[in-house]
Amino acid sequence: MRKNLLIFGFVGLGLISLLFFTIPKNSTDNNQKGVLTLTFDDGLKSQYEIAFKEMQKQDYEGTLFIVANWTGLFEGRELMSFDNAKEMQENSWEIGSHSLSHNFQNRLTKISDEELKNELDKSKEILEKEGFKIQTFAPPFGDYNNKVKEETKNYYLYVRPLEWGYNSFENIDPYNLKSKWVMTKYSSDDVCSWIKKANSENLWLILNFHHIGEEQTPWDFSEQKFKEVLECIKNEGIEIKTIKEVLENEKRN
Ligand SMILES: [Zn+2]
Repeated sequence: MRKNLLIFGFVGLGLISLLFFTIPKNSTDNNQKGVLTLTFDDGLKSQYEIAFKEMQKQDYEGTLFIVANWTGLFEGRELMSFDNAKEMQENSWEIGSHSLSHNFQNRLTKISDEELKNELDKSKEILEKEGFKIQTFAPPFGDYNNKVKEETKNYYLYVRPLEWGYNSFENIDPYNLKSKWVMTKYSSDDVCSWIKKANSENLWLILNFHHIGEEQTPWDFSEQKFKEVLECIKNEGIEIKTIKEVLENEKRN
């Protein structure tokens, strides 16, 4: 009798350890997959007309960074209106500040303390008066250092400069979120391979887009390639979230 119990005990233990080692660790935990955020800098009209409209078809939301004091044109390209951006916000897009003036001569690491405060504080104030909920900042030209980083903490919860790479959920710096810049030189397959890597390795990939349409500068990405990237996202089934959605809702640790 005692011998039989012992045998059952061993068999039971064996089964338990078999179960333990064969059930994939993350099979029931949806939080343990890659996440993708699509960000758009500058508030160009093409981002409203192409990116927003195409993403709407799939129910994807992104993060848009707009400049508080801009109207009309940027480097010869048409900007969207605040009303366009508001429509995006109403459709669950996140709107962030991309500074007050976006001026290369007066970029954030070069200006006085007073001017820096103004670029961060005033831009947020203007955009909030327009009805935007601003928690996230993207420094123009990715121009960023420790001093600017410390100052942004007074006004924002999250910052996406232009540091290249993936974000690992074990080690996220909300004031220095890494991203990959979708430039003209990349194909949609290149971008798709980044998305696949993020999804298979449980990483958070933030893509950074500028103009969507005719490729005239190194920062443009054609409409065709953009649509192919959306197709890749759909096939891959990766979760799409805005920056604040990821950082507010994801409880990964
Ligand atoms: Zn910019």
